[in-house]
This record gives sequence, C-alpha cells and structure tokens, in this order.
Amino acid sequence: MARFRDVDVTVLGGGLAGSEAAWQLAERGHRVALVEMKPAATSPAHGTPLLCELVCTNSLRSDDPATPAGLLKQELRRMGSLVIGCAERHRVPAGAALAVERFGFGREVTARIAAHENIRLERRAVDAFPDGPVIVATGPLTGGGLSESVRELFGGDKLYFYDAIAPIVSAESVDPDRSFFGSRYGKTAGGGAACEGDGAEGDYINCPLGEEEYADLVLALREGRRVRPHAFEEGRYFEGCLPIEVIADRGQDALRYGPLKPVGLRDPRTGKQPYAVVQLRPENRYLSAYNLVGFQTRLAYPEQRRIFRMIPALAEAEFLRYGSIHRNTYIDAPRLLGEELELVTRPEVRFAGLIAGVEGYIESCALGLLVALFTAARLEGGAQPPPPQTTALGGLYHHVTRSRGAGEPFSPTNVNFGLMPRVEGKHKKRERRRLAAERAARDIEGWISDGGARAPWSA
Ligand SMILES: Cc1cc2nc3c(=O)[nH]c(=O)nc-3n(C[C@H](O)[C@H](O)[C@H](O)COP(=O)(O)OP(=O)(O)OC[C@H]3O[C@@H](n4cnc5c(N)ncnc54)[C@H](O)[C@@H]3O)c2cc1C
Repeated sequence: MARFRDVDVTVLGGGLAGSEAAWQLAERGHRVALVEMKPAATSPAHGTPLLCELVCTNSLRSDDPATPAGLLKQELRRMGSLVIGCAERHRVPAGAALAVERFGFGREVTARIAAHENIRLERRAVDAFPDGPVIVATGPLTGGGLSESVRELFGGDKLYFYDAIAPIVSAESVDPDRSFFGSRYGKTAGGGAACEGDGAEGDYINCPLGEEEYADLVLALREGRRVRPHAFEEGRYFEGCLPIEVIADRGQDALRYGPLKPVGLRDPRTGKQPYAVVQLRPENRYLSAYNLVGFQTRLAYPEQRRIFRMIPALAEAEFLRYGSIHRNTYIDAPRLLGEELELVTRPEVRFAGLIAGVEGYIESCALGLLVALFTAARLEGGAQPPPPQTTALGGLYHHVTRSRGAGEPFSPTNVNFGLMPRVEGKHKKRERRRLAAERAARDIEGWISDGGARAPWSA
C-alpha cells in the first residue's frame, strides 16, 4: 500500500492504457497517482470496480507473431507488460488467440496495482486536468467533466464515432446436434482437445448454415429494426468493428467472406465445409457462456433475439447479454500531440489508449507502455527515442503522431502490417508477413539494446 503524499505523475483512468502506464512508471521508481472513477461513477459499458475491465470480447486476438496482433503482443511481452503478463495467467482456450477469463484477469491487475509501493490508487472521477505531469487514459467513454474539458481544449468537432458490442449466449442453450467444436484449420491454443471432459477438438462452437438459411439470415439482418443514434452522435463506424447488419447491407456474400466465412472448417456430420458458419467463442474458462464472433450490432434487443435465433444451432439460445452501440471518444492526435504523445500546447499532459487514437485492448496497452517510457525519461532528465516504425509498437506510434495528410480526417486504428514499411522484394503475402515479423523482432531488440527503452522489464 502506497504511503507517499507527493506524486511525480498523475495517471487518469485505470483501463488498459492507464494501468499499464502506471505500472511501468512505478516499476521505474516514480510515484504515481492512478485515478479511476469506478465504482462511484461508471460508463454505460463498464460494470465492475476492477481495473483493466474488458468491456466487450474477452479476446486479445491472435497470439501468432506472424499476425499484427500476435507481433504486438510479442513485443509487449518482451517489454514486461503488466497487462499481457496477467492475461497469460488467466488464459482460456480460444484457438490461436489469447483470450482471458475477464474477472480473474481484472482482479489480478487490480491487486497488483493496489499493492505496488509506488502507486496510490484513487477512486474518484476527474473533471479537469490536474497540475503537474499527467497521462490522460480515460478511454472511449471518458466520463465526469473531463470529456467537457477535453472538448473545450480542442473544440468538439472530432470527438465521437460508434462501436458496437456482440451478444453472449449460454453454452447449454446451444444445440449440440446442430453445431460442432473446432477452430479454423484445426488450430487450438494448447494444441489438443480444448473442452475438458467432452473430448471435443477445438475451442470454438461452430454453427453451420445452409445456403437458404444464410439467405434468410441476411435478409432479416437487413430488414431488422435498428436502434437510432442519438442526435449528438454521428454514424461513423470503425471499419474493423462494423455492426453485423451494416456488413449484411454491403452485399449478399459480404458476411460469407467476413465473420461467417466457412474456410478451414469441416462439419464432422457431413464431412464438408458448410456454406457459412457462425462461430461462438468461450467467454470464460468454465465454457459456460459464448460470444457470437463478429455479431456486434445495433439491432433492437427483441430483434436480436428473433433474428439470431434463426441460426439453427441457436434456435433456443438464451441471451446472457445483447449487443449494443456505444460512443467512442478520441482526439485528433496527429494534429494535437508531439513526439512524446504530449499536448503540443501543454507538454506536461500526455495522452494514451483509445482516446489517443488507437483501437483495441492491446493497442491501448501498447500506448500506455510507450507513454510511460516517454514520461519516465523526462522525469529522469533524458529523452526517450520512439520505437522504429518497422515494429508493431512503432507502427502504432507513427499512426498516432504522424499519419495525417493535409486535410484528411484522422481515425483510430488497430495494429496492422500496413502501419509498418513494406518488406522489400517480391514475396507471397504469407512470406512477406513472416519477414516483416522477423524484422520487427530484430528491430525491437535493437531499440532496447541501444538504450532506446530502459529496463526494468518485469511483470
Ligand atoms: C462498448 C465497447 C466495446 C468495445 N469492444 C472492444 C472489443 O471487443 N475489443 C477491443 O479490443 N476493444 C474494444 N473496445 C475498445 C476498448 O474500449 C479499448 O480497446 C480499450 O478498453 C481502451 O483502453 P483504454 O485504457 O484507452 O480505455 P478503458 O479501458 O475504457 O479505460 C478507461 C478508464 O478510465 C476511467 N475513466 C473514464 N473517465 C474518467 C474520469 N473522468 N475520471 C477517472 N476515471 C475515468 C474508466 O472508468 C475506465 O476504467 C470497446 C469499447 C467499448 C466502449
């Protein structure tokens, strides 16, 4: 339990970015006040007093370093990320992905932060920027009067867009005779049977659809009643998190080539690849609840029940949570932030996480880690060089600080290979990605050993 009075840095928001930032600063010997508004105040999406609450899916995405998300995790792991360390200890089966049992994960992060001798955890909503070095990591649903303060500081023209969350169904309500276990191409997290006791191969429950069933579903999604946006919100979606009905609107086959793609899956009853497949991913290690992968939606609740029950395996589905829409707050980072993620007009204030212009749990954690390095270096009288753009961390950093061309609007991004320079030479896609991943692994080591990022790396 921290007993100090004076702090070196105040971190606002105990989510993915704020918890990581506070931890990294504290591990370097700096005294941190981490201010979290829960449980006194909560956003519409947060529901627990825990730090690092995962508000939607429990997946931190692929763990394969040849994918962008896997590569970023590898770099974060290498740098002693608190979030990734805790996630690994609370892993649930999810194919090649790192998915977690969210409450155990959140409890461990909270306990470790609360017990750190250099962190003072304060539970209150912040309305204005405090004096001294500050890291703003209050996330997509920034609350209290702070969103007003941010809006006043920058003007309110680029602060909102939408995301949508997917429904969860109870495992026992999924029809086992109309579904089968399995991960695409037979990949499993542990390489063996994923569901203890049932002998089933693979981690996902797959709900196959025939051609007619698929066509009926697409039509229903297009015609289903949707929740209307509030007047103050404008309908811009993040491309990687489109509502299922918006994808359905894009064409008859858009879902079959998107979240319902059947490739790499074979229905054991027919021995064939189904026409389309809805995948359900475990929500917890007890495998008692499953998330409908890619079914984030703004359909009205009764419509979700009616339409998603058209999927044969979900005909009797019990919905533990329905999908919904939400607000997302972020700043025009490339215009407002400098090289160290600091406000150009007020350099003691730095931004991290989703509000700074990245999308996703691990991306937010990555910016939290990076902003801590910049802040720590300044507190120690030095300067932290940014990570090379050839790394996943560097790709994100460059997107946030430098991506905006003249007159182009800025929007948050997930980590992807497009953020890094292309590998020279003619290569097939898979080989190019492998080479990019190899180059990133080499360059992150170079950055660290050149004194670019100082130890300690512990978590
Ligand atoms: C409904 C919803 C669904 C999402 N689904 C996904 C998903 O499936 N996958 C994914 O990768 N990402 C998803 N996201 C994006 C997700 O929020 C981010 O990826 C990640 O949580 C952002 O991390 P962060 O640290 O920036 O913000 P958060 O994790 O939201 O943390 C911010 C913290 O700041 C606190 N706070 C806010 N205002 C104040 C204040 N004034 N004073 C003190 N504390 C404050 C909040 O209580 C919160 O604990 C979703 C977001 C929302 C809102």
